[in-house]
Amino acid sequence: MVPGFHRPAAVYVDLAAIRQNIEQEIKHLQPGQKLFAVVKANAYGHGAVRIAQEAVKAGASGFCVAILDEALELRRAGIIAPILVLGVTQPEYAALAAANGISLTVPSLKWLKDVQTNLAGNNLQLKIHLAVDSGMGRIGFSEDSEFNAANDFLLNNPNFDVEGMFTHFASADSADDTYFQGQVDRFTHFKKLLKVKPRWIHVDNTAASVFNKKVHSDLVRFGIGIYGLNPSSNPTSPDLPVQIKLKPALSFVSELVQVHTIHQGQGVGYGSTYIADKDQIIGTVPVGYADGFIRKFQGFKIKVGNEFCPIVGRVCMDQLMVLLPYEMAVGTKVVLISNNPAAPNSIKKAADYVDSIHYEVACLLDDRLPRKYYN
Ligand SMILES: *Cc1c(COP(=O)(O)O)cnc(C)c1O
Repeated sequence: MVPGFHRPAAVYVDLAAIRQNIEQEIKHLQPGQKLFAVVKANAYGHGAVRIAQEAVKAGASGFCVAILDEALELRRAGIIAPILVLGVTQPEYAALAAANGISLTVPSLKWLKDVQTNLAGNNLQLKIHLAVDSGMGRIGFSEDSEFNAANDFLLNNPNFDVEGMFTHFASADSADDTYFQGQVDRFTHFKKLLKVKPRWIHVDNTAASVFNKKVHSDLVRFGIGIYGLNPSSNPTSPDLPVQIKLKPALSFVSELVQVHTIHQGQGVGYGSTYIADKDQIIGTVPVGYADGFIRKFQGFKIKVGNEFCPIVGRVCMDQLMVLLPYEMAVGTKVVLISNNPAAPNSIKKAADYVDSIHYEVACLLDDRLPRKYYN
């Protein structure tokens, strides 16, 4: 993938906002609680290495990523703090993780046995976190017998350092706590079965922490909050109030590369879904769905100069067109996504428009867009 350095389109990230969001969360932690910054998926599209470096400055104690390669990227960049891979890593890569001091998630007893086979022979100890499936239905132990057997397997086993045990909530961002509480109870049950002694027992994601769910967690896996976004984003219900001040960090900015007038009856874009009913001024913006700005954004209003202008015609792969209220110069600034949470083109409003969540809108922004950092 080639980042487009010679095209006027980029994702801007306000690093002061990133640091401030983490600092606010650290002040909000329970006594003794640590913050692990979740920087999976290229830090939710913000750029993993740079965000991790800022997170260290702001006081993060460690990191969570989704896949081993993301952890290795951080190690290559000189990040020495603990890193936990949250997804399932194939046993054959366990030695690579161990050699780099990267912690892996244990989904099952079979996985442990396969890893043991792979580690045997080389003098490596792997740091692990036991995952408990308390109701997410995704990964981890869900049967007492298997969890007990894993504990027996790990007792006095020199190939493993049981650093943690965790679970993940399906609905910590919901006003109704019933399912959440069921998961807490299920996890508490598994904690009682422990024979090994993990240093960190953790459950909190951003939502559980900022909505004050008040459950025991030695560390908070702080993800969406880093980026200044309310985890309860949902197109159909209002956001729950967050206990800390969050400031969105990301904006997506381009500029007009062409402005021209089309006449009555002329169409715009593939399929001519927009037909001018009179003379209209059309501006062309050099970004499209290949940049992660999906076709569903047709009709969404983005800011051109000082005006909010609708995207007309279908979003193309690499370009899109806007309807301008008056003649504007080539080079006029275009803000597709604003970091101002009150703006009509905030990432939350953009996500609502395409029936999604801001997590997804941010993650979709492609590597072709350079990330530019300020503050
Ligand atoms: C992604 C993820 C998180 C972070 O979630 P946020 O809602 O972004 O805070 C925490 N824990 C696990 C297991 C995850 O997969």
